Amino acid sequence: MVTRPDPSADLVTVRDDLQALEGYHSAQVDVEVRLNTNESPFPPPAGWREEVAAGLGSIEWHRYPDRAAVALRAAIGDWHGVVPEQVFAANGSNEVLQTLLLAYAGPGRSVLTFEPTYQLHAHIARITGATVIEVERAADFSLDLDVARAAVTDAQPTVTFLCSPNNPTGRVEDPAMVRALLDVAPGLVVVDEAYAQFADWTALDLVRDDVALVVVRTFSKTWSMAAARLGYLVGPSWLVRHLEDVVLPYHLDAAKQEAGRLALAHVDEMDERVKTIVAERERLVEGLAALPVETFPSGANFVLFRVTPSGRTGQEVWQGLVDRSVLVRDCSGWPRLDGCLRVTLGTPAENDRFLAALGDVLVST
Ligand code: PMP
Repeated sequence: MVTRPDPSADLVTVRDDLQALEGYHSAQVDVEVRLNTNESPFPPPAGWREEVAAGLGSIEWHRYPDRAAVALRAAIGDWHGVVPEQVFAANGSNEVLQTLLLAYAGPGRSVLTFEPTYQLHAHIARITGATVIEVERAADFSLDLDVARAAVTDAQPTVTFLCSPNNPTGRVEDPAMVRALLDVAPGLVVVDEAYAQFADWTALDLVRDDVALVVVRTFSKTWSMAAARLGYLVGPSWLVRHLEDVVLPYHLDAAKQEAGRLALAHVDEMDERVKTIVAERERLVEGLAALPVETFPSGANFVLFRVTPSGRTGQEVWQGLVDRSVLVRDCSGWPRLDGCLRVTLGTPAENDRFLAALGDVLVST
């Protein structure tokens, strides 16, 4: 009998430094209320959908797209009051982060993160072969200015990440923190602002050509466009030029460029949605305050809470919620996040479902 090799076995060995690496996953479970990936609960405005449909009709599909994404970058630049040369756009802010790290991290260089934070910063840095220096936040996930300053002075990283509002904790850093990092960092400071529209300040105003600072943003959250995969950074024009040399040619397809450009005509509607979500956040936090959980302050479209005071484990509570058709993010197995779950703000009805289900899980025997 002919035996075939085990189709799941590796025929070629992966790079030694990647052997222990685990991918980044979020459970995709079929439930009625999905509050696990920080998307917008609202679909994009109807007007935008019609404009995109019309815009697609005039795309020259047999031609490569505009490699420099001029119209999209000009529209983003107009919105933020910067020139298009200071804007780099990519397939989700994850690809922005990847391109940044391909250009500025890599073997022999180091990348500093304040943990716990968005896992992809360290993950992609490791894939590029850089050394990751993980600096601990305090037990309540706050970040002390002197601790941050000393860590960066000590480690001399090529890239320093600050995520504000921070995923998964929700904490917003204040401008003094960014200024302090800029004072001491010998390399690039990256402020990941995937959730900045839900908070009350942005580091965008600090971006200038003579400062090594970039601010990373996404269309996946406020803009209700997670399916489109579009993100960007605002930074010095010399840096953007290097990123354009590193990223694959024609990486941003024509449909996405058009969809993003058209979205920027709907800023007012987006601001309204942000207000709704922020109001819902306050309501949800009040609801959590009535339950035996510890809630962490959030400036984002999600809230982190710890279920340990209820005497239950994070896994038990997560499963109890799934059993009631509500999906949140189980962070309880992640380092430093023992007993923690993260819930994304949904529609008012979805948030009610979540609060009722959680109350139910926590009182059930
Ligand atoms: N940065 C942070 C802090 C995030 O939480 C996320 C999404 N989970 C991203 C970047 C990536 O978002 P996207 O690739 O959808 O733009």
